[in-house]
Amino acid sequence: MKLSEAQHEFGRCVAAFLPIAYKWAEAYGHRITLGELFIPPACKPGYRSLGGISNSLHFKKLAIHLYVLVHGQKLGEFNDYIELGEMWELLHERATWGGRFPHRDAVHFSFTYNGVK
Ligand SMILES: [Zn+2]
Repeated sequence: MKLSEAQHEFGRCVAAFLPIAYKWAEAYGHRITLGELFIPPACKPGYRSLGGISNSLHFKKLAIHLYVLVHGQKLGEFNDYIELGEMWELLHERATWGGRFPHRDAVHFSFTYNGVK
């Protein structure tokens, strides 16, 4: 699959996921805020020093961060996001949730591309 096709499909999945995520959050009285979609490859050194990986899907616009807020505070633990992660994974065979990574990144929702998750 060409990168542009993967980006198109990823966008379609994000568009389908946002109403689901908002409905889920609002049922708990939580709020949602969106984070990083694109991190320019030029930012690699700083990104890596913060624990990012050198082949991050953010460099290809195939990952987005979605934060759950409770009383204005961002949640960041695996258990806070597992329901969202499971809903994301059901949307597409390429949909991958960062909570599954060895270095758990619960706010990361991405699209597998060329073997990179
Ligand atoms: Zn990420």
